[in-house]
Amino acid sequence: MSDPYDVIIVGSGAGGGMSAYALTQAGLKVLVLEAGRNYDPSSETPMFNLPSEAPLRGSSTPDKPFGFYDATVDGGWEVKGEPYTIAEGSEPFMWWRPRMLGGRTNHWGRISLRFGPLDFKPRSRDGLGQDWPITYEELAPWYDRVERLIGVTGRAQGLENTPDSPEGCLQPPPTPRAYEAFVTRGFNSLGIPVAAMHAAVLTQPLNGRAACFYATACGRGCSIRANFQSTTVLFPPAMATGNLEIRANALVYQVDLDRTGKAKGVTFVDRVSGEHHSVSARSVVLAAGACESARILLNSKSAAFPDGLCNTHGMVGRYLMDSVGASASGQFPALENLPPTNDDGISVGHIYVPWWGYHLQARKALPFPRGYHIEMGGGRGMPSMSLGAMLSRQEALSVGDALREDARRIYGSYIGFAGRGEMIPNEDCYTDLDPEVKDKWGIPVLRFHWKWSEHETQQAAHMVKTFLEVIDRLGGTPTPGYQTDGKKAISRGGEIIHEVGTVRMGHSPEDSVVNAFGQSWAVSNLFVTDGAVLVSSPDKNPTLSILALAWRSADHLAGLARRGEL
Ligand SMILES: Cc1cc2nc3c(=O)[nH]c(=O)nc-3n(C[C@H](O)[C@H](O)[C@H](O)COP(=O)(O)OP(=O)(O)OC[C@H]3O[C@@H](n4cnc5c(N)ncnc54)[C@H](O)[C@@H]3O)c2cc1C
Ligand code: SF4
Repeated sequence: MSDPYDVIIVGSGAGGGMSAYALTQAGLKVLVLEAGRNYDPSSETPMFNLPSEAPLRGSSTPDKPFGFYDATVDGGWEVKGEPYTIAEGSEPFMWWRPRMLGGRTNHWGRISLRFGPLDFKPRSRDGLGQDWPITYEELAPWYDRVERLIGVTGRAQGLENTPDSPEGCLQPPPTPRAYEAFVTRGFNSLGIPVAAMHAAVLTQPLNGRAACFYATACGRGCSIRANFQSTTVLFPPAMATGNLEIRANALVYQVDLDRTGKAKGVTFVDRVSGEHHSVSARSVVLAAGACESARILLNSKSAAFPDGLCNTHGMVGRYLMDSVGASASGQFPALENLPPTNDDGISVGHIYVPWWGYHLQARKALPFPRGYHIEMGGGRGMPSMSLGAMLSRQEALSVGDALREDARRIYGSYIGFAGRGEMIPNEDCYTDLDPEVKDKWGIPVLRFHWKWSEHETQQAAHMVKTFLEVIDRLGGTPTPGYQTDGKKAISRGGEIIHEVGTVRMGHSPEDSVVNAFGQSWAVSNLFVTDGAVLVSSPDKNPTLSILALAWRSADHLAGLARRGEL
């Protein structure tokens, strides 16, 4: 490594990848330190491997929770030698971590929804949570740029708090599949609008990248670069500037300060050799994922910051949020024995249901203050073990030809519904350092504290009620196992893998850790550009917003560097 660099970026996922792209384009010399191993989707993606070639037909197993072909390397709900703990008395919390270049952008779902104007001012809307220090209008130009760069499908639909993108930003959405057209009828009959999905998948070629040919699940990664991954979309152009170096297997655990109190670099442990190294730069960007960025700050203790860097007001690790999740599925006789249709397409649904109840909440006509959107799955993709599970739910188990006939009849007649809702930050959800437990290198680990509030459990109950109404409206039967009690229906903390908010941005050092540009109030050349800076966790999945915020922060940082103000 050839330090000093202009910028060290810790982490290479959505926030880190975008920071590296924007800062190298601005001419700054950048070092990316990534805890995981190097990863090249063009050679490592099992694009054409069939479920039948995988153990258990590719089904989920404890070490491969998203199936055999999922792109996650060296991680998952557990990372060997790198534990985390749950505080006594806490509700469960789950933490998904990959250890690979590009982080979770290699296998995420690609759902890419803009937050809306109301999402940035939640406290002004209903007195709960905290307002962001920026408005939708201030972030909108970066949403435009991100959509143009990474390629996002969608269509302007004029729905409340569901922003339309300016002309030329979005790629054409794929046509709804047969079951999607069917389920649209059900929602519409309840007065609920359905919209085209916004997904980071190309339906037209873009910047030398090919359009999707609906080959295999995007969660495997994409060797033809048709979906968005930091590794295929952000790092190649960043590398081409000649301004980027990447060091893999570098687990950063501390930000180092100089005598004036500015960041002078970071210290990391090489996950392969176990050696510790320090490296210096004129500025540091933390983008290790919301929880890990908080961990690095909490572990960076000094005389000036005995409780962790930037933690003078006890704000680091606070206001941890996830999305609210609940699900149900149904079987629909109307979809049995359909003539074969082409149900291929992008990995996620081609449609989704944006939150439709803003006016009801404004009138306080619902028992919960914030909204949710609905994602759906169904159709006839490549058969997997789930077909066996569906068959076992038949009233009488069949064998031989009758079994084959049953399989053909019911295959494709199930639709799954998943709600993704806004969580309001609360005092009971946060992370701090475990006083006892350390990882295999002796670095203190995170301890999670979690408690859903009634705002979320009531919302989860409403999700399930809506799913059951739609299933009924379409003449279906709900699959047994659904829960109508919100406390039972709700996902576990962290389970939706949208954890955000531990190093939030705000108006002053008293209410936040960083300013509206992700710049630390306490250390002016230290930035945070991952999900940690989010002030709220709207129902819209967070990654498009993480990318837009990271690009905006990078532009600010580059401006400071140009003016000699770092
Ligand atoms: C299965 C799945 C589906 C998802 N679907 C969607 C979706 O459809 N839409 C959506 O918006 N979001 C989705 N998400 C969430 C999305 O992946 C995250 O919001 C996003 O990747 C967060 O970006 P990040 O930069 O904060 O973190 P990450 O992308 O996780 O990047 C963090 C990087 O930092 C590295 N790192 C960690 N610790 C250290 C350290 N100490 N030192 C150095 N490097 C470190 C990690 O290895 C990783 O590469 C999904 C996630 C999963 C797992
Ligand atoms: S569905 Fe399309 S974008 Fe996704 S991995 Fe397959 S070819 Fe690539």
